Amino acid sequence: MRQIAIVGSGPAGYYTAEAAQKQWGDDVRIDIFDRLPVPYGLVRFGVAPDHQSIKAVSRRYEKTSLSENVRFIGNVMIGKDISIAELQDLYDAVVLATGAPNDRKLGLEGEDLKNVFGSASFVGWYNGHPQFAALDPDLSHRTAVIVGNGNVALDVARILAKTRAEFAGSDIVAHALDRLDTSKIERIVILGRRGPHQIAMTPKELGELAELERACPRLDAADLPEEGEDALLEPRQRKSVTLLRSFATIPEAHRADKQIEIVFDFFASPKSITGDGKVQGIEVERTELKDNRALGTGETYTIDAGLVIVCTGYQTSPIPGVPFEENAGRFANDEGRILPGLYCSGWASRGPSGTIGTNKPDGFGIIGKIKEDIGNGAGKSGGEGFEAMAKERGIEFVSFRDWKKIEEAEGANARADSPREKFVRVEEMIAAAGKN
Ligand SMILES: Cc1cc2nc3c(=O)[nH]c(=O)nc-3n(C[C@H](O)[C@H](O)[C@H](O)COP(=O)(O)OP(=O)(O)OC[C@H]3O[C@@H](n4cnc5c(N)ncnc54)[C@H](O)[C@@H]3O)c2cc1C
Repeated sequence: MRQIAIVGSGPAGYYTAEAAQKQWGDDVRIDIFDRLPVPYGLVRFGVAPDHQSIKAVSRRYEKTSLSENVRFIGNVMIGKDISIAELQDLYDAVVLATGAPNDRKLGLEGEDLKNVFGSASFVGWYNGHPQFAALDPDLSHRTAVIVGNGNVALDVARILAKTRAEFAGSDIVAHALDRLDTSKIERIVILGRRGPHQIAMTPKELGELAELERACPRLDAADLPEEGEDALLEPRQRKSVTLLRSFATIPEAHRADKQIEIVFDFFASPKSITGDGKVQGIEVERTELKDNRALGTGETYTIDAGLVIVCTGYQTSPIPGVPFEENAGRFANDEGRILPGLYCSGWASRGPSGTIGTNKPDGFGIIGKIKEDIGNGAGKSGGEGFEAMAKERGIEFVSFRDWKKIEEAEGANARADSPREKFVRVEEMIAAAGKN
């Protein structure tokens, strides 16, 4: 019997579990640990609350969880409640699928001012992540600046722009919905160091900006490259750029009845964030492209802004005893192998890029390597050993059945137009699970 521990119950964790099941059938036992009492990682806490169809992938993970040889063990933080070395004593292979939960900072002066947030915290706030539920962003200034030209920037812009009615069917948490109701934001500026051809935004997310009830995108046509150059782009990127082109031609008459504009400010590199205790503005330098890189032109300007959200990437949380690549912000690994018996998968192994589906080949790839390395297993105690340790230490862990109770309570608490009202505090989750 092979005993496998997977740390992290996001997509990478679940695809790894699925791959192990396919590989060994009944001859493997898999324990999936998560520091939170609830599973699914960024499917619950990252994917936008108004994109419920994407969150439906969790049904596939649930199927994996409900099989005999897979267990979800929530509310256990590896590296704190149990060390990596201890886990390695219990299991033949330990796979770190811990994602990349920390914001990558810009390193700018003023980044620590009040009302400047990274996207992990801001997205975590509106998605009810217990770590960020108390964020308390101030939305009373007329201008918000979003730094970054990826889909997360678009998610954040869209969430800031939507009316309460437009959140029907979403699972945005009540505290965010109530705060957004009081928002005075009229202008959302999306800053990108490079130009329209260099965006990492997909057509679906861009297209949604043109459909908003009270907001309208704006783009300076002068920032667009010659139309003929679009032919060189990959088809999906071309589609995104075509959407940007359409934003530049929206008639002023159409904008007249929109209260919010979402401005794409390309060739704009943030230099510093200014304010006295709290953000009041952001200083920006114009750039030009040279060999696909943004070079400063020396021309600067300031945008008055009361809220800044930096959406420029994430990094993995280091875990004591695990080699870490500081620059790349992920565990040091060779195609998923970290040390003998220790592996990684998903964002923890390759950094924060790609879609949910990109984590699937990671999971299957790492199980192939584990198969080469562990043979039939070394007779380790696995889950039984963990349970004994948990009892000894008083670790109150949450099973998948407990999670189903939490899920049921969240469904029962839902607003009329929402699938669930998430618990945003760990204690509430534990109580809903029927634990102390
Ligand atoms: C804002 C945002 C929106 C996104 N929207 C989309 C989208 O619409 N469509 C799409 O395809 N992709 C989207 N993605 C990308 C997608 O969410 C990721 O590809 C995917 O979640 C990465 O999977 P992962 O398992 O590596 O990490 P995560 O999903 O982050 O899972 C990591 C898990 O590990 C747990 N963990 C961390 N440290 C520990 C520890 N020490 N001990 C125990 N557990 C731990 C965490 O609690 C978490 O549950 C989005 C990402 C973000 C940030």
